[in-house]
Amino acid sequence: MAALAEIPLAAGGLLGGAAFMAWAVRGRASAVFGPSVWRGPRDRKAVALTFDDGPSEDTPRILEILDRHGVPATFFQCGANVERLPPVARAIRQGGHEIGNHSHTHPLFCFRSARFIAEELERAQCAIETHTGARPVWFRAPFGVRWFGLRQAQARLQLGGVMWSAIGYDWKLKPEAAVGRVVSGISNGAILCLHDGRELRARPDIGATVETVRLLVPMLLDQGYKLETVSRLLCPTN
Ligand SMILES: [Zn+2]
Repeated sequence: MAALAEIPLAAGGLLGGAAFMAWAVRGRASAVFGPSVWRGPRDRKAVALTFDDGPSEDTPRILEILDRHGVPATFFQCGANVERLPPVARAIRQGGHEIGNHSHTHPLFCFRSARFIAEELERAQCAIETHTGARPVWFRAPFGVRWFGLRQAQARLQLGGVMWSAIGYDWKLKPEAAVGRVVSGISNGAILCLHDGRELRARPDIGATVETVRLLVPMLLDQGYKLETVSRLLCPTN
């Protein structure tokens, strides 16, 4: 905690306290509240396609597209959604994809206690491992919001934080616009964020996301990008 207290003072000359906190909590490159990455190495023409908020009833439509192109992705699952749809969660693993932790109930972490945050990560980790057999090594914060206590919770579960290089806003944009947003953020090592669920909603309409994936994957492959899981992108020798 002492180290944290020193950071705002050190940055105080450049940023006001409020601006610093906003960056610390939401900034994609911030690791103030825990180790976190937002992109992979730039030396290989590879990117990672990631999905948050699943699994949902229509996740299999995305799996089918990925399977058709023979590409893997990483799914940051909410524990509560895994408990609602265990067969879908398992199908993701069986499809050769990576599973990450996206909390249990998708809360906003700011102003919550360290215990609350730790329990959210632990419950999701447990649900995912119980129903899929996979133990996540990556965590993506709900809404990208990090807070006090997250660093310790990540450390206890040995979870690395993952933000994104480009996010599709696929929950509100039309597919063509979502593809445009993602493609504009593409470069070697990019981590791309889409959503195969909508927080904890049952039967969410993810039609726009499915269509985004259908357009985006062949486009990336045509441009010569290799699609990899987050683990492979960040640790290519593993
Ligand atoms: Zn989310």
